[in-house]
Amino acid sequence: MIALSLPTAQAADNFSYTDEQFADIQMLRYQVPGFDQLTLRQKTLVYYLQEASLSGRDILFDQNGRYNLRIRRAFEKVYADYKGDRTDNDFRAFEVYLKRLWFSSGIHHHYGCKKFHADFSETWLRNALQSVGASLDEAIYPVIFDDSVMSMRTNQKDGDDLVLTSAGNYYAPGITQAEAEEFYAQRKPAGDPHPVMMGLNSRLQRNEWGMLEERTYRVGGLYDAALSRVVHWLEKALPYADSPMQERVIRKLIEYYRTGDLRTFDAYNILWLKDTDATVDFVNGFTETYGDPLGMKASWEGIVNFKDLAATTRTEKLSTNAQWFEDNSPVDARFKKEKCKGISAKVITAAILSGDLYPSPAIGINLPNSDWVRRDFGSKSVTIGNLTAAYAKAARGSGMGKEFIIDDQTRQLVEQYGDLTDDLHTDLHECLGHGSGKLLPGTDPDTLKAYGATIEEARADLFGLYYVADPKLTELGLTPNMEAYKAQFYTYMQNGLLTQLVRIKPGNNIEEAHMRNRALIAHWALEKATQEAKANGGQPAVELTKRKGKTYVRVNDYAALRTYFGQLLAEIQRIKSEGDYEAARNLVENYGVKVNSTLHKEVLARYEKLNLSPYKGFINPRYEAVYAADGSISDVRLSYGEGYAEQMMRYSRDYSFLPDVNE
Ligand code: ZN
Repeated sequence: MIALSLPTAQAADNFSYTDEQFADIQMLRYQVPGFDQLTLRQKTLVYYLQEASLSGRDILFDQNGRYNLRIRRAFEKVYADYKGDRTDNDFRAFEVYLKRLWFSSGIHHHYGCKKFHADFSETWLRNALQSVGASLDEAIYPVIFDDSVMSMRTNQKDGDDLVLTSAGNYYAPGITQAEAEEFYAQRKPAGDPHPVMMGLNSRLQRNEWGMLEERTYRVGGLYDAALSRVVHWLEKALPYADSPMQERVIRKLIEYYRTGDLRTFDAYNILWLKDTDATVDFVNGFTETYGDPLGMKASWEGIVNFKDLAATTRTEKLSTNAQWFEDNSPVDARFKKEKCKGISAKVITAAILSGDLYPSPAIGINLPNSDWVRRDFGSKSVTIGNLTAAYAKAARGSGMGKEFIIDDQTRQLVEQYGDLTDDLHTDLHECLGHGSGKLLPGTDPDTLKAYGATIEEARADLFGLYYVADPKLTELGLTPNMEAYKAQFYTYMQNGLLTQLVRIKPGNNIEEAHMRNRALIAHWALEKATQEAKANGGQPAVELTKRKGKTYVRVNDYAALRTYFGQLLAEIQRIKSEGDYEAARNLVENYGVKVNSTLHKEVLARYEKLNLSPYKGFINPRYEAVYAADGSISDVRLSYGEGYAEQMMRYSRDYSFLPDVNE
């Protein structure tokens, strides 16, 4: 049993995690491990729920801009039917534009919000459209070709009228920020302990008398055609619900889509967060409000997922042994917890992504967003294991390892054990590290002030580093041998000393707490090694060394490095337990903040040569149902081979339900 539950990260497979690159985008793929182990009933549920997810696709395009659907459809017709030269500059620029449009669900950048510049000519487009029997309203040409028209999707610039200057479709044209704010201020109920998230599921527009009113996203309202399809598939899913609570969840969601009532939405969320028994789970709806400059109106998104049982087994092993880890840690007995309880991290496997989670998803989910629901009922928080793994695997093939790891032997070590020990380090950090140790009586938890977050992350990371090298993990069946941890030690030092610098702009210091903590640990250990070598002679346990003008990390003594991590853990726990502000400040300022500008320049130059795209997104797998004679599903087949354009054209063919104009 123990050997079987080893994570399978080192298993060789031929799956390709990276796909095409265009503009500033790298397309990736993710696997859905464990799908085949689901029961037919669960597979059927996943199938219906992913249909419900994909059916909402058009909604986000329309929310992101009122011309997006028309532009997408006209462009897809050209893409499919154009008989002219498909290799000339205009067509190629057009193709990149269309892929960016698909990626962003609209004509603005998904992250920066700036409108795409068209690198093909207007004349070319007019001819191409005519040649395939398509057309666009005259008013839409400047939307494509004039960079000053609808230039930002969500404008957040202080001082601008954020509503008037945002091209997103949450407010009808001509509505000002002041009008919208007043509309909602008047409707805010005073003293309601359970306030709904006002404006969440509607567009604000003018009625025939010029007065503002909400047009609600619901069956029979705005986006009726798409939401009716979503409801159709949710109804199909109902009989296959994974728990009695989940059946109530799905029913409540259907009721909400039918009524658009935000109180029903709150009730749905409460049921959803209470449902922790179901193996298969989902998010489907108007959820995050980043796309609205006023932060009220939510974009549509969907994800279907199921519990990652292997990862959960892993974290359960750690949490049931929490007291052992606490008792055996290198920190002073005064700072240890007498009764220690680990938490079991919840890891899920994504089966499909859609709406605002596709193709560029979050790797964790923490919902619902309603403040009062979170206050009174809590929230569900999960990490999406197969997406994290896909990012890591794709990074492996990126050339970073070849460029920054010192030699073949170390590269092999990282290749073999890197993923496995990285997951374990994260588990140790989350399940045990943050929960370990205690404050001395009378220590104010806020004493460390601005340095508190970095010290806390360093504490959890060091707990993970110290224990990933412990024979106890091999005994528990979590590491295969006492070699594996070296992969984690090497990549940790390499990241803290070198590669995390690629995320810092030249001339800047390190600001973010997790990055500061990694720099702190790595630089502290490096200095310690240098001092010990000076005092005792011999090689330092870890050093920075140059080969052919390039700087590398070299670890000469992994066991000694573990001792340093243990010593620093003991010191950082002391700082935290005693609330020693001065010591916290010294550690962070001396080791975690400053950047060596010569080294920084070198790292940036080496990174730039690798030509890596700053933004990444995932192509979805494909699910096909096999139907029995009685119409029920007898099997669900999962495949990965589809190309990005192929997937987008299929979605536009099979899941496009909204009219061009939605008012
Ligand atoms: Zn943490």
